[in-house]
Amino acid sequence: MEKDNVCINCYNQIDKVAKVLKLGQAELDILTIPKRILTFSFPVKLDSGDIRYFTGYRVQFNDARGPTKGGIRFHPEVNLEEIKTLAFLMTLKCAVANLPYGGAKGGIMIEPKQFSEEELERVSRGYIREINGFIGHDVDIPAPDVNTDSKIMAWMLDEYEKLKGRHSPATITGKPIALGGSKARDFSTSIGGAYVLQELTETFDMKPKKTSVAVQGFGNVGMNIARILHEWGYKVIAVSDSKSGIYNKNGLNIKDVISHKQKTGQLSKFKNSGEISNEELLELKTEVLVPAALEDQITKKNAGSVKAKLILEMANRPITPEADDALLEKGVFVMPDILANAGGVVVSYFEWVQNSQNFYWSEKEVLEKLKTYMANAAKELSKVCTDFKCDMRASLYINAVKKILEAERLRGNLR
Ligand code: GLU
Repeated sequence: MEKDNVCINCYNQIDKVAKVLKLGQAELDILTIPKRILTFSFPVKLDSGDIRYFTGYRVQFNDARGPTKGGIRFHPEVNLEEIKTLAFLMTLKCAVANLPYGGAKGGIMIEPKQFSEEELERVSRGYIREINGFIGHDVDIPAPDVNTDSKIMAWMLDEYEKLKGRHSPATITGKPIALGGSKARDFSTSIGGAYVLQELTETFDMKPKKTSVAVQGFGNVGMNIARILHEWGYKVIAVSDSKSGIYNKNGLNIKDVISHKQKTGQLSKFKNSGEISNEELLELKTEVLVPAALEDQITKKNAGSVKAKLILEMANRPITPEADDALLEKGVFVMPDILANAGGVVVSYFEWVQNSQNFYWSEKEVLEKLKTYMANAAKELSKVCTDFKCDMRASLYINAVKKILEAERLRGNLR
């Protein structure tokens, strides 16, 4: 088989699992080579009248278990290798959470802060014009990711529906409620992570009031998990965004932090708090560390300085594989992204189900169902951990890989 497209990062991570499950070359190829890669560039008219070309990607990694599913991010450092890796992680995440989906990811190389709202709308619509022939409710279903939100999903859906000449709400999730979005989708990733942490604090016998938490990232996921944990009585001692961070060892009132950021556009200068950099936040003495920003934040370089007892990976792939080994050796407990942040795609799935049946649920129903999905995934994880005597990440990978390969086998794609 042609190996040009192989996902290098996936290969590194699948290696461990391959040994445990005694996988052959055909299985490894299926797990590390994406099914479809779209790379394209498209013109967008700026407010000045100038035309600028943007580069976009969509990787549909594996669809053995169902249509591919995954977000679209806007970031200046988006690149194909990253999108492949994240699409691979989505494939595992959907399998771990028992959703009838494969995995995908998309992205546009753009610094959204440098563009007006009208320009971002034209960029979003331009992106959909490029991929509209390859997505759909039963093919590939995009959603929000880093720097994209329900407003962007609304533009994308509208463009798709205009091109097709019919309504198709189940083609994109993470939409505003008025366009068929689900209740609780805007904070579902965060509350899903909070449910997982709650289970862990019970196992580790950590009382919320005595449990300090530091959150890196104050976008949708970071801000909402900081808010929820604060509301549940946890001591959130530090938060940071891409520009700055704040710290108070007695805990920050996150509700006030959110209004401060809304008013001033920044975290710094929040009352009764000291300034802290992103790097310092990762090395704080805290019970729980929540990386909720971008990938590759904890690396070989700083893993040795991490003092947290427990890390909840709310960002996708915030710990590099080398750092992961170092943390394991140090005895730091890591709850990996593919379970910790699965709440987002689980409620995306609920949104898709509601769109397909044209019958909508209350927030209470959504949250109850989300809790059940997260608890079931956690239960399966602890069984695999016991059966295979592996760490959390390896066990989650084993569980996901077994499900994906079973689907491939049943389809006749493997012996
Ligand atoms: N972008 C989110 C993730 O990485 C959500 C994906 C989705 O809802 O499809 O899990």
